[in-house]
Amino acid sequence: MIKKIIGVWGESHKGHKRKLNEDRFLIRELPGITILAVADGVGGNGNGEKAAEIVIDAFQTYKFSGEGIKDDLSAALENAAKRIHHEINKNSNLAGMGATATSAILYKDKIFWIHVGDSRIYLLRRKKIKQITTDHTFIQDFLDDGSLTIEQARTHPLRNMLDQCVGCDEMEPDSGIIHIKKGDRLLLCSDGLTMHLSDIQIESILKMNSIQEAGEKLLNTALKMGGADNVTLIVKDLY
Ligand code: CA
Repeated sequence: MIKKIIGVWGESHKGHKRKLNEDRFLIRELPGITILAVADGVGGNGNGEKAAEIVIDAFQTYKFSGEGIKDDLSAALENAAKRIHHEINKNSNLAGMGATATSAILYKDKIFWIHVGDSRIYLLRRKKIKQITTDHTFIQDFLDDGSLTIEQARTHPLRNMLDQCVGCDEMEPDSGIIHIKKGDRLLLCSDGLTMHLSDIQIESILKMNSIQEAGEKLLNTALKMGGADNVTLIVKDLY
């Protein structure tokens, strides 16, 4: 699954260890609005794939209106959650399926974002990256209170345990608005990238000249480091 649109680069790779790719991503261009999203499915037997598809479809089909984007993002995510719960109620074999959902909408001079799970948004500004989202994982609490370092967390056995997702009993999305500055670059990615690359590595690659160069190098580095999980990323230059 590869999609390339001028000004934005996105790719999803199964990685080297997983049988299925349960990540999905979206690059949707409407007049004056760009909608980007990454979803990473959880719940075995291919059910995670279904959940990730529902999330992406919700962002693909939602009628985003421009001025009401912040509320639209919440509504799109609520729709996805309702649909996943509906599927689980219809078929008990799907119990436990869910997905992360991380979306950024570019409208005028702002980025509107919403986030559930452990996919991430990074902003590269003046050659420095900043992680915009906070992971919704159990070990994030240990990071917050200082009992784990970021390096320890990246390889921690519980690093994949989400304390909320789309389809989980718990869902309290984080959201925010960023004012775009000239030269900003945005990265959305699944944890298949961040489990292998530190923020310093991501920063040094993300600031490469072209988004394609940066995107390909990030993906290939994650694969070279083992490709233990599905790897998905979107890189977008903001003007
Ligand atoms: Ca993953």
